[in-house]
Amino acid sequence: MARESEKEELKRKDIAHVLHGQVVPSVFHKSGCTFYESAHGVRVVDMDGKEYLDGMCAGACANIGYGRAEIAEVAKEQMIKLQHYPNYGYLANIPEIELCAKLAEIAPAKIERFMTQNSGSDAVEAAVKAARFYWGEKGKRDKHKIISLDKSYHGTTAGAISVTGDPFWLHPNLAPFASGFLHVKALPYCYRCLWGKSYPDCNFECAQTLEEAIEKEGEDTVAAFLSEPMWLGVGVHVAPPGYWQKITEICQRHNVLIIIDEVITGFGRNGEFWCSDIYDIKPDILAFSKGLAAAYMPMAGVGITDEIYKGITAHDAMFPQVHTFSGHAVGCAVALKTIEITLKEKLAENAAEMGKYILERLAPLKKESPYVGDVRGLGMATGVELVANKDTKEPLSAEKTAEVVSRCYEKGVIVVAFGDNILRWGLPLIATKKDIDIILDTVEWAIKGIQV
Ligand code: PLP
Repeated sequence: MARESEKEELKRKDIAHVLHGQVVPSVFHKSGCTFYESAHGVRVVDMDGKEYLDGMCAGACANIGYGRAEIAEVAKEQMIKLQHYPNYGYLANIPEIELCAKLAEIAPAKIERFMTQNSGSDAVEAAVKAARFYWGEKGKRDKHKIISLDKSYHGTTAGAISVTGDPFWLHPNLAPFASGFLHVKALPYCYRCLWGKSYPDCNFECAQTLEEAIEKEGEDTVAAFLSEPMWLGVGVHVAPPGYWQKITEICQRHNVLIIIDEVITGFGRNGEFWCSDIYDIKPDILAFSKGLAAAYMPMAGVGITDEIYKGITAHDAMFPQVHTFSGHAVGCAVALKTIEITLKEKLAENAAEMGKYILERLAPLKKESPYVGDVRGLGMATGVELVANKDTKEPLSAEKTAEVVSRCYEKGVIVVAFGDNILRWGLPLIATKKDIDIILDTVEWAIKGIQV
């Protein structure tokens, strides 16, 4: 079949048979989707053979890059040996045990026991369940509420969407959402401080909202505070120094557990293996996913400290958390190899170095461009906040921001827009300065072309 008609046929099948999330149906029915056919290194290739530098990184997953034959070999070997045997009841498979032991070596703080999951949403839900079960076994079933940020994304399964605070996802048709979840305005959004304060003289008013919520609800009803360590599910937001210390003090003061969602940030993206380590956060429970198997397999996991494990097993109760594919043998084998590559090739260190370079290069753009209000990032997760007016900080419109994204796309660079006006790009962690220069040159060029 000629290439053009092959493409048309795929588009027809896609429009006829695929249920896509996050598309406007009329736009989808008219234009269909973009298909990528192959990839290598930091680039994806469309059906016309055009290559794109992938600042979307397969949804912030493809940390070790595309086309790694050694991963395919590990997967093939494990598939032939034993594709999977479940991990519930008294069952286990070897790759799962090896992976959990490896994770215990590298995990932040005192996290040392793991159960792998199928998605980041599952991991978040398992984390919530571990927190509630812990308090339940302590005889405190009322201590079940989970507090997260009003600007947050933690997934879309029925439980995880109730943790998610961003109203974009909370469509009324999905109501009622699960009970026992609260959202507070504790995001340290210093560029647009809700209290009109400036860091560091702000006394962390944002963090204070967490304490106010705990006190209002009563600490005997609050199980945990759940948050990303830096916020990538809703764009790019970086915690200022001291923020996490304040949050930790509040949680400790009120006997509230800390659940950290490292679904995006884990596995080197921010310049350390875990973003929690950058801020010296000591999670009681950790959720993680994307970089674990770098999109070669759908993998995720939840980790707990010994203290949490002792709590949930104190009365010999069975922890009711299973998935058929938890501890998937091929997924675990692939994850082990991915971690080995991440460590051997020092990808977190590369992310740190490239991140510094990106911020240095963006500093003049922030000064000179009338449309760049703020530049933020940590490691290989950076972005800019676009404004129509720098003095008033009026956000650039969603249409104009989309124009920047599509100008980049035409030039072969994929960047992502969040909200109306935040642009983010996060390449695979193997990216070089040359790749960064291409992405930044293109973003700068695309922003310069805006007419407001
Ligand atoms: N948590 C965060 C911070 C995320 O960014 C995401 C997904 O992007 C999730 C949880 C949910 O992960 P998944 O899409 O694998 O369910």
